[in-house]
Amino acid sequence: MNRKVRVRFAPSPTGGLHLGGVRTVLYNYLFAKHHGGEFVLRIEDTDQTRFVPGAEDYIFETLAWCGLEPDESPRHGGPFAPYRQSERKPQYRQYAEQLVAAGQAYYAFDTPEELEAMRNRLRSEESPNPQYDHKVRGEMRNSLNLPETEVQSLLDSGTPHVVRIKMPEGEKLSFTDLIRGEVSFDTALVDDKVLLKADGMPTYHLAVVVDDYLMEISHAFRGEEWLPSAPVHVLLWRTLFGEDQMPQWAHLPLILGPSGKLSKRDGAKYGFPVFAANWADLKSGELTEGFRERGFLPQAFVNLLAMLGWNDGTEQELFSLDELVQRFDIAKVHKGGAKFDFEKAKWFNHEWIKKLPVAEYSAQVQTIFEQRGITVTDKGFFEKVLELVKDRCTLLTDFWEQSAFFFTAPKELDTTAIKPKWTEAKTQFFQNFTGALAQLQTWDAASLETLFKEQAAAAGIKPGELQLPLRIMLVGGKFGPPVFDIAALIGKEATTSRIEYALTQL
Ligand code: GLU
Repeated sequence: MNRKVRVRFAPSPTGGLHLGGVRTVLYNYLFAKHHGGEFVLRIEDTDQTRFVPGAEDYIFETLAWCGLEPDESPRHGGPFAPYRQSERKPQYRQYAEQLVAAGQAYYAFDTPEELEAMRNRLRSEESPNPQYDHKVRGEMRNSLNLPETEVQSLLDSGTPHVVRIKMPEGEKLSFTDLIRGEVSFDTALVDDKVLLKADGMPTYHLAVVVDDYLMEISHAFRGEEWLPSAPVHVLLWRTLFGEDQMPQWAHLPLILGPSGKLSKRDGAKYGFPVFAANWADLKSGELTEGFRERGFLPQAFVNLLAMLGWNDGTEQELFSLDELVQRFDIAKVHKGGAKFDFEKAKWFNHEWIKKLPVAEYSAQVQTIFEQRGITVTDKGFFEKVLELVKDRCTLLTDFWEQSAFFFTAPKELDTTAIKPKWTEAKTQFFQNFTGALAQLQTWDAASLETLFKEQAAAAGIKPGELQLPLRIMLVGGKFGPPVFDIAALIGKEATTSRIEYALTQL
């Protein structure tokens, strides 16, 4: 590879980032870092009708959460500014005109009514997909058909117009995709896309080519849904800058949900997040849940995204970001769609919860506790609790269910399993046990267990018959880590008072 590696993620700020979008970021990032190159974030905001307030902030916040910081962006700055397409507006017209001069584009003056009439006519001729292409361009009001003087006077008088690409009629356009190999298109099937709009803004097609050139982008990775646009881009590259300057393309496979391409609606339908972080649409008021808020760790989210369409050829599934950077190879990305499985996604999170030291995520769990009304005052104690229950948690929100009882004594005790077998002797045992606890010198799990067993032997009751009651007294239900670990952690006073309270309920 002789060019400096420079890749870009080029989102339009139109809403939240779904799995596919963040995976595109990730593969760009991994490739750049693997090759010691740069990862650029460019905001493609030339379609002002689709602009959504808050979407740009969301993109930056999400990338920061994932640990995928761009090297250059509208906010990080960089030598190729501006990184927001709208700020480059005055530059695009010259390229559009260069294309017109080269005979690869033309001015089109058709009004919306004329365009609609053309489409209606084609529909009535049973054309399933009416489009402005080589078949109709000869009948429309454009600079290919109008006399030169009329074109000039229309331009001079400021008549609204667009610039369209002139797709060749029967040419085969090919390029080599790093994932798919050689890809070819029959240009006759591609329409004459608008390159420059009536408001002077470029469309995506022109802007993406110009910007990739000006920003010296060496590789362009994007979702498979952009593949049909590729012939337009190849043709623009050829005319404007030369195909040898063109970035190497890779079109990433679709992410599939339970029924075809994963969509935002699948999230609502099947009850799993499809966005990285919560997205609140200001216009519709609709809230789409994110992986972050569902209780995913960024390490797990990044790991599971990496595996959606790629593996390193071994059985290994758990990768840190650093390992991914070392191992990532764009040529190993699969061609076929990658199936998203929420159960598998949760497995990744569970593994990462177990793998990471709790200090890495205790702040996030603390927020979850605070949202539920528990203020954490002793961080040391909080982290000991998290350490004790982490193997039982799949989502960060599970920490609440698994350990809230450490912070508030249970009031509702699930005594159904112990009540039928309750005896006066057991009441006596627990009364004696709390008395003995008061005398206990060393307060740790081992000493508690020894004492408990000695007392059970003295009372002639099997310890096994007393441990479940003790658990229900301390926890409120039949779950949680080893019961003497719980007692050791909540301390003498809480252990004693919980047993005493439970005895009043039995
Ligand atoms: N602006 C396009 C998008 O929203 C970028 C496509 C590309 O990367 O070329 O996805």
